[in-house]
Amino acid sequence: MVIKLSSPENLLRNVLQLTNEANEWRRKKSINLIASENVMSPLAEAVYLSDFMSRYAEGKPKKRYYQGTKYIDELEIMLAELMGKILNIQYIETRPISGTIANASVFKELGEPGDRALVAPVQAGSHVSHTKFGTLGALGMTQVYLPYDEERMNVDVDKAIKMIKEEKFKFLVLGGSVYLFPHPVKELADAVKERGAKIVYDAAHVFGLIVGGVWRNPLREGADVMTASTHKTFPGPQGGLIAFSDEGLYKQVSKTIFPYFLSNHHLHRIPATLVTTLEMMKYGEQYAKAVVENAKKFAEALAEEGFKVLGENLGYTMSHQVVVDVAKQGGGAKCATLLESANIITNKNLLPYDPPENVQNPSGLRLGTQEMTRYGMGKQEMYEIAHLMRRLLIDNEDPEKVKKDVIELRSGFLEVKYGFTLEDAGDLKDKILILR
Ligand SMILES: *Cc1c(COP(=O)(O)O)cnc(C)c1O
Repeated sequence: MVIKLSSPENLLRNVLQLTNEANEWRRKKSINLIASENVMSPLAEAVYLSDFMSRYAEGKPKKRYYQGTKYIDELEIMLAELMGKILNIQYIETRPISGTIANASVFKELGEPGDRALVAPVQAGSHVSHTKFGTLGALGMTQVYLPYDEERMNVDVDKAIKMIKEEKFKFLVLGGSVYLFPHPVKELADAVKERGAKIVYDAAHVFGLIVGGVWRNPLREGADVMTASTHKTFPGPQGGLIAFSDEGLYKQVSKTIFPYFLSNHHLHRIPATLVTTLEMMKYGEQYAKAVVENAKKFAEALAEEGFKVLGENLGYTMSHQVVVDVAKQGGGAKCATLLESANIITNKNLLPYDPPENVQNPSGLRLGTQEMTRYGMGKQEMYEIAHLMRRLLIDNEDPEKVKKDVIELRSGFLEVKYGFTLEDAGDLKDKILILR
């Protein structure tokens, strides 16, 4: 972009307009199917805009390097305790400002430069942060991919156990980004323990499903650590979190996060994450069930409309995601761009059988139901979205025409469900809005 340096007032107008248009577009006029995104409730958003956004609190609650932290201390302790109760685990780190920072802090303590980690195969959805191309590589480590079972679209358990027995590695990472079926934690745990290694489970995508009780809790199946993002299926502010079953590792990693990976941990996330956590205590099961049911329905509907949906013999999906092969419709890049022109927001994605060098034009689309479910969409709407996608990508209808119907469909789903409203703040409502 070339900025013409005009007056601050003109540029300000530009900033405000762009922000406003983004709000209107994404909040009111489009159907968002990006699987890693979500929206907070109105109350969590109100709380997000607090004085905490301007403050520092280096260190742990009650052991800070700064004064003025007594309120954030209380809130941070409350968040760790609540999460611990929900996950049935004692040791929680709430400071990572993202899932990647959570991974970095854990990997740093589990290995040293030159070490290797066994990770889920790319085809089963491992994230770039698990590899030498991302966070693992920044720490001087490298990955060895576990064997892939094409039939089950997952880690091949028998071959993986053999690899665990034979390979030299420091820790194992499961959990993924293109993630339809749960990776086998329980099945691999004994073999990993026998080697004296640790299991890290990256729950970035499925954290909300775990909290809602519809996805296997890896900590109960033998994982030593679970890292998470707090803004994907868990509908809170952008941030990260780590849960440990092991006190020793918890203490080690706590010393790593600060000062290695952050100084300020973006304190305003904490009360907003708490509000979301309370919402999940109240509505989490209902919400997570609806998300997964919608994903299954969406997959079925897309298949009925003529799309090639992955995982048919496995019931398509057990998560919030649906993966579609759109090679016949011109490929992931073309389809995602077309969809966007009709206000359906998705991302192109490599499919398990795509060569890695096709990353700019893969055969697939990754779709997620978590955000539209949060706005109250159900089975009927999944069929309607699938039909809109067919009109655009198979029947080659004019995107402008489809867009009108997208906006029309969305107009019935503008309010966040499964969460608190401003009215739930009761007599504190005006007080929490003081920064608005
Ligand atoms: C999204 C994702 C991350 C990164 O999370 P951020 O919070 O965006 O840093 C890490 N691991 C997996 C598996 C992910 O999908």
